[in-house]
Formats: sequence, C-alpha cells, structure tokens
Amino acid sequence: MHELALAQGVLDIVLSTAVGNNAVRVAGVKVIAGELTGTVPEALEMGFAALAKGTIAENARLLIQLAPATGHCRDCGSTTDIDKHSFVCQACGSHAIEIITGRELLVESVEVE
Ligand SMILES: [Zn+2]
Repeated sequence: MHELALAQGVLDIVLSTAVGNNAVRVAGVKVIAGELTGTVPEALEMGFAALAKGTIAENARLLIQLAPATGHCRDCGSTTDIDKHSFVCQACGSHAIEIITGRELLVESVEVE
C-alpha cells in the first residue's frame, strides 16, 4: 500500500528529529504532501498511527497539508498550475511542462515534548 510506505518515510524522519531533540514524546507532526504524490490524507493518517504504535510518536497529531502542483512551461516560460490528469500549460497549451511542485512529501515541522 502506497500510503504505508509514505507513512513509514514520515515516521522515520519524525523519530530521528525527535531523538535529535531529546524528546520524550512527539505531540504533533505537520506534513506537506504534493498533489502529484496521490496522497490520501486519511490513509496516511491511519498508516502513520499504525506504524507509530509503541514509539514516542504514538498518538501524535498528524496535520497533512496538500500542496498544489505547479510547473514551468518550457515553451512560453510561464509558471502554471498543473491539473494532475493533464500536464498542459494553462497559458499556451504546451505539454512541455517541467514540474516545480507537487511531487514533494515533506515533514515541515515536528512538535515534541
Ligand atoms: Zn506555456
């Protein structure tokens, strides 16, 4: 399952951040997930909760913010929003789109105690 792999990646970052800060408990985690990752927030939350059991991140609040996909058009040079189903420049209709954002899955902040 896609989300379980993502959740494992998030948990790894959270735990190493927490350990680096001598935390005893992780209270909350803020994650930014690009639209193009296809992340389903509810599934990521469930996966994270399951994997975090027995770790200091157990019961941590997971806040997931979906980041819109944007791209750079190689033909007209504009920055465009990308519809994940059709990679087309909204300014000129070109398909020569270079993705800028939307593929990232970032742990933006970890709240520890
Ligand atoms: Zn264009």
